[in-house]
Amino acid sequence: MSISTALLGIAALSCLMSAAVLGSLFQSKIPGVHQWSVASGLLAVTATLLLLQRSDVVVLAGSALLVGAALLALHGFRQFFHQRPSITWEYGAIVAILAGLVYWTYISPDVNARAAVVSGFIAYVRFGIGWLVQRYRPAGRPKYSYHFVTVAAVLGAIVHAVRCVAYAFGLAHETTFLEATPINVAFVGLATLTLPCLSLGMVMLAHDRLAEQMERLATIDDLTGVLGRRAFIARAEALFDVAKAEKSKLSIAILDIDHFKSINDGFGHAAGDRALAHIASLLSRETRQTDVVGRIGGEEFALLLPRTGKEEAAYVTDRLRGIVSTSVSRDPTADLVCTVSAGVEEFDACDSLASVMARADAALYAAKADGRNRVMLVGENRQFQPVEASA
Ligand code: GH3
Ligand code: MG
Ligand code: MG
Repeated sequence: MSISTALLGIAALSCLMSAAVLGSLFQSKIPGVHQWSVASGLLAVTATLLLLQRSDVVVLAGSALLVGAALLALHGFRQFFHQRPSITWEYGAIVAILAGLVYWTYISPDVNARAAVVSGFIAYVRFGIGWLVQRYRPAGRPKYSYHFVTVAAVLGAIVHAVRCVAYAFGLAHETTFLEATPINVAFVGLATLTLPCLSLGMVMLAHDRLAEQMERLATIDDLTGVLGRRAFIARAEALFDVAKAEKSKLSIAILDIDHFKSINDGFGHAAGDRALAHIASLLSRETRQTDVVGRIGGEEFALLLPRTGKEEAAYVTDRLRGIVSTSVSRDPTADLVCTVSAGVEEFDACDSLASVMARADAALYAAKADGRNRVMLVGENRQFQPVEASA
């Protein structure tokens, strides 16, 4: 058995295993996984065909499958990153390559030209994958698996680019397909190494996407899209530690929708849900990127304002209160307008999160008792009056 044959056998097995592993992720509905799995399956078929026979028709079919699988994998990566999967000229290129393969097989047989075009296209695909992964790598996710895929893709691209140039410019020659020349052994060996690395990388990316979805489920409130209570408390503890270390200010506002029960009673629970989502989106949209919004109870939200003192936090919260009180939640049955009451407090270095939240909560209830649709500052037992309003 020649070394090329042995390497092809290993490639067939590893592609088959990759197809099976990626196939196990079908149910996750992660975009691109389907294409990756089918592409690995096609590569396994290609390697098996070439193991069994190397007649003209088999080599032609194998080459066609190879470029098809490469393009399918690239489409998978584009889908994974929510990009448009297909680019028209790539189909044109595939047709031209197939025509060239037929020409160089039956009309003017030329193994070197075939090797050059097939490898040239695969090099393009692999460089494309490496670029895509770096360009659309999600911020805030562990980088390792994304870098791993890029390295595997670019190494594969270099191997194919070198092969393409070597055969196109006559630096290497062969008379029969996959002749056991040193360059072919090196090529098949490196391809056998980089291909499973790429497949492994695909599995790593799919798992990272799953982990991201799980983390999202655990941290984000489904209905409103802001942090859920547990995640909010964790962020608050972390920001409190930062504030203590930096000796910077940190404030919290607790906001509760006024008479929300009457919205549910009057317009139905679904309308109440939509109003909750509407108010959450206003709070998120109208706050700074560094501020943290969470839903800490049924119709109760909290806002963390790093590097912000009590007065400024009350000013921001009162602005939010004003926005909420004039914003309409459009509903099939009615246009709903809600108001919110809020209590604002600043963290003290010797505070605990529970104690500062309890004080903000007490201020919130003072705001309710005082008539609602207002912001109350802790300790001063007074309604916050913006400077413009009081002037
Ligand atoms: P107050 O001004 O004193 O805060 O009055 P309120 O009616 O807002 O307060 P209360 O605590 O009496 O009622 C809160 C209501 O919020 C009751 C509950 O059904 C509703 N609620 C809590 N969570 C949800 C939710 O997820 N969706 C909907 N639609 N309603 C919710
Ligand atoms: Mg309420
Ligand atoms: Mg409440």
